[in-house]
Amino acid sequence: MEAEFARGVVPEQGIALYIHIPFCATRCPYCDFNTYAGIPHLLSPYLKALQTEVRLWGALLGRPTVNTVFLGGGTPSLLAPGQLAALLEGVRRAFRLRDGAEVTAEANPDDVTPERLAGFRQAGVNRISMGVQSFDDGLLRLLGRRHSAGAAIQAYHMLRTAGFGNVNLDLMFGLPYQSLEQWQHTLEQAISLAPEHLSAYCLTLEAGTPMERWVKEGRLPEPDADLAADMYSWAEETLAMAGYRHYEISNWARPGCESQHNLTYWRNLPYLGVGPGAHSYLGGLRFAVLKSPASYIGYAHTWAQQGALHPSPLTAPLLKTIPVVEQVEDIGPELEMAETVILGLRLDEGVSLAAFRERFGRDLLAVYSSAVEELQEVGLLEITGGCVRLTARGRLLGNEVFVRFLGARAAAGGPRPSVIT
Ligand code: SF4
Repeated sequence: MEAEFARGVVPEQGIALYIHIPFCATRCPYCDFNTYAGIPHLLSPYLKALQTEVRLWGALLGRPTVNTVFLGGGTPSLLAPGQLAALLEGVRRAFRLRDGAEVTAEANPDDVTPERLAGFRQAGVNRISMGVQSFDDGLLRLLGRRHSAGAAIQAYHMLRTAGFGNVNLDLMFGLPYQSLEQWQHTLEQAISLAPEHLSAYCLTLEAGTPMERWVKEGRLPEPDADLAADMYSWAEETLAMAGYRHYEISNWARPGCESQHNLTYWRNLPYLGVGPGAHSYLGGLRFAVLKSPASYIGYAHTWAQQGALHPSPLTAPLLKTIPVVEQVEDIGPELEMAETVILGLRLDEGVSLAAFRERFGRDLLAVYSSAVEELQEVGLLEITGGCVRLTARGRLLGNEVFVRFLGARAAAGGPRPSVIT
């Protein structure tokens, strides 16, 4: 962990940059991300607006160092190589991109072609995160995915042939109709491909999604939580035997291949998000870009019309004058402490007591004494090697642990932080 950040200031050690590409060929029925199908005509003006936003942030923040770039969505792999290259060129002009920075692009198997991959590599992408979800064709249809299991395997081999040496596969478990055997088959297939990194997410029925409605209407069975817990435990054991480190609740990596970008989030360090709906955490402030791509295009133009920008300390009033920004929240030290603990507990390394003291000048065990004691007593939390960590059982019941820290905050009278799940 780093020392507590000066308010309004972008730290010298740099930030992470998230770039949102809110376009999808089709919408998956479980997804509640801010992404849209049927608006390909907006792609070109959108990329122009994105370049504008990147340029203006670079100027306002004084061209800070960027340690990692993550192109997420949506579907960044819908971009043509030339479009992606121009975007990353804009990033390099506006920011100091650290030498050897991890640059990740999310990809869908259907979009993967040798030409596109060669172009992405040449543009500077050095890590691909591919949304596979399952190696079962029936479940892929249920999830509304465009690809088959065979297409995902083929795409993976194309990634390797193109020279990508750092690949993540996203998988999902706890799906309606999914048996333990189906999950085991998917995981074994993934392990046999030997990616550097695996993410496994339990399906969440997000409010307002078609899948949530189908379950409510009885058209789909409710996912079985006990079975999902068995799937998770099986994944923990199997991936450990295969040499993957379970470094975050939903993420496993070969040693040294952890996602540097996502570690920034879990260590509660600063990041800038550009594009509709993207969130930022900078200078002690959290803020989001407005969600509609069409409005975003217009407001990015408005921002560009406001005249030349000079490096300025970030303040809530300043952010409120930026046309693409909405939902500005001042993160006080109380909230920063709670979020640092909640996010840090997601990691196997946990939260270092010494680093917490260095960052906040307070003793974690004193600030959260009753929450820590109670959670230790029920076997969800442990203190080892100078760090507070979740136990194996705590990882299964992470949300219950996080709620206790939220409760501790609520008792202290502060605002309740949002939890990233
Ligand atoms: S492709 Fe990804 S972002 Fe797009 S709808 Fe499906 S899950 Fe959501």
